Amino acid sequence: MKLYVANWKMNKTRTEARAFAGELGARIGARADRVELVLAPPFTALDAALDPAGRWALAGQNLGSEGFGAYTGEVSGHMLAEAGCRYVIVGHSERRRLFGEDGSLLARKLARAREANLIPIYCVGETEEERDRGSTDSVLERQAGTLSQDPPRSPLVVAYEPVWAIGTGRAATPEDAAAARARLAGLLSARADLRLLYGGSVTADNAAELLRVSEMDGFLVGGASLDAESFARIAGLGQRS
Ligand code: PEP
Repeated sequence: MKLYVANWKMNKTRTEARAFAGELGARIGARADRVELVLAPPFTALDAALDPAGRWALAGQNLGSEGFGAYTGEVSGHMLAEAGCRYVIVGHSERRRLFGEDGSLLARKLARAREANLIPIYCVGETEEERDRGSTDSVLERQAGTLSQDPPRSPLVVAYEPVWAIGTGRAATPEDAAAARARLAGLLSARADLRLLYGGSVTADNAAELLRVSEMDGFLVGGASLDAESFARIAGLGQRS
């Protein structure tokens, strides 16, 4: 089953999240059993984005690297799980770049996610400069190395998100995404339950071709997931049957 994750980043109030959930539910009817949908709202809107009918799951966008305690502003994995999350995004490039999150911190976050029975959606991807230097493979290898202590039999989602494609309107070519998929599948061949996603300027217009050629297991979607119709179309649920 294909997996489509909506990463809202720091967008949508509780009221807006509730409106989105209502619209998405109306659009997809009872058909979400053909794909797996996940919404990653801000922490404050988790309950507002929840679907009582269970047609989509929730993800946290981030979690603290410690279990609990004096860490002002942090939210723990257990808190996310109790708030209804099944997944948590770990290592998004905005966290790496803007908040200085490095491999050792991310390894601790992955461990906290597992303690809370959350499935990590672990993000990897090269910057434009790394790509131009021909370092894409070595960047993916280093970032995948952060998973070395993560239990290999536990379900894992890895999102290939080239940094230069995020929020730029310049998606990777389907062929580039396919190459990254093959590279990651090789690096993570010991994993028993792995799904590989592509993320970076996915829209309702480029999704079908990207998915077909890259053979990814789905998408992590930022900007285009803020609109329920566009997210539903990306997930192939555009027309209500
Ligand atoms: C993201 O930030 O995870 C992302 C894929 O963003 P966008 O779809 O806006 O490029």
